[in-house]
Amino acid sequence: MNFELTSEQQLLKDTVREFAWTRVAPAAAELDREARFPYELVAEMAELGLMGIPIPEEYGGAGADTVSYAIAVEELTRIDSSVAITMAAHTSLGTMPIYLYGTDEQKREWLPRLATGEGLAAFGLTEPNAGSDAGATRTRAELRDGRWIVNGAKIFITNAGTDISACVTITACTGDGEISNIIVPNGAAGYEISAPMHKLGWRASDTRELSFRDCAVPEENLLGERGKGFQQFLEILDGGRISVAAMGVGLAQGAYDLALAYAKEREQFGRPIAEFQAVQFALADMATEIEAGRALVHRAAWLKDVGKPFALAAAQAKLYTGLLSNRVVNAALQIHGGYGFMDEFAISRFYRDQKILEIGEGTNEVQRMVIARLLGL
Ligand SMILES: Cc1cc2nc3c(=O)[nH]c(=O)nc-3n(C[C@H](O)[C@H](O)[C@H](O)COP(=O)(O)OP(=O)(O)OC[C@H]3O[C@@H](n4cnc5c(N)ncnc54)[C@H](O)[C@@H]3O)c2cc1C
Repeated sequence: MNFELTSEQQLLKDTVREFAWTRVAPAAAELDREARFPYELVAEMAELGLMGIPIPEEYGGAGADTVSYAIAVEELTRIDSSVAITMAAHTSLGTMPIYLYGTDEQKREWLPRLATGEGLAAFGLTEPNAGSDAGATRTRAELRDGRWIVNGAKIFITNAGTDISACVTITACTGDGEISNIIVPNGAAGYEISAPMHKLGWRASDTRELSFRDCAVPEENLLGERGKGFQQFLEILDGGRISVAAMGVGLAQGAYDLALAYAKEREQFGRPIAEFQAVQFALADMATEIEAGRALVHRAAWLKDVGKPFALAAAQAKLYTGLLSNRVVNAALQIHGGYGFMDEFAISRFYRDQKILEIGEGTNEVQRMVIARLLGL
């Protein structure tokens, strides 16, 4: 076994860490407070080649492996979840489907813009009445005169409504019991995007409701084979879970960093609270569990990179790190006492940003269902 990062992975890690500390950290609290989308930071991530890490260089991406991508997502989340999810949803959910299932023409049309971060992509699976049961999609697409006529609604869609959003890939029923994926460009007539939704966390990220009223897109916008949409979105979510799991580790690590620094600085009973064994034990548990979570994430990413089945490892990593980040951020806020409850302290933002990691891309319960199925139950 070799747990060393390669020199490329280490370089990327250092680059993202530096960017996160110097550029994201000073802006994160204000962006969160104002629920303002981080356009400038996205442009800077694009410059650094972070908006298409696993996409091959021929399409404008960095051509790096999934382990590198997971490391980058972790390092961003360690500082700010809104910026991290913007990059992660764009990559795993928005761009990946086009890379995995697109025709040469679709790849040439979309990937260079997306992988370089010039445009953002979204993936619209969830509907008001089809969440965990995503196969119950009611959005319909009918083929008429060489065009798909789309009618329906999606909810909670990340990156769909920014000034630089380029397209959303949606799942739609294209026949009885038949689900297909279709690319809908932003600006298509009949495609309406709500105002940003107000959220507990991830406040600087873009989350929208989408509606399609006789929205016509060219027949060629079908992504992959007709009727294979269900299978495709399951595969996309398998990959996406690695990035949400990396966010779980990153959030936990960031919360731990804050708690450690605070414990050394805060004095009560005449000494730093870090000298009390109860606080030391809490930090020791956090550090230990974070290492375990990181190992699960890296293993899932590595399995994907070497072309081995990774769905089980990805669901396990997602479930574990969701629960881990919950425990860690809770303990980290506890160490901050009342100050942790105040907006001025970053830990309060981490606390709000954590919960969605147990819901998005499959709730904890859905992960357990996936894991049980893959265990043969
Ligand atoms: C900020 C944010 C960003 C998001 N971004 C996107 C995006 O970009 N694209 C996208 O398509 N979606 C996105 N989502 C949607 C997200 O994936 C869903 O919210 C999630 O899958 C859960 O669906 P739901 O909210 O409808 O909950 P429900 O499915 O209604 O679940 C409610 C509760 O019931 C439980 N439950 C449901 N079925 C079962 C069962 N069979 N057994 C046991 N328990 C069950 C769930 O675990 C949960 O606890 C986003 C959501 C949020 C909040």
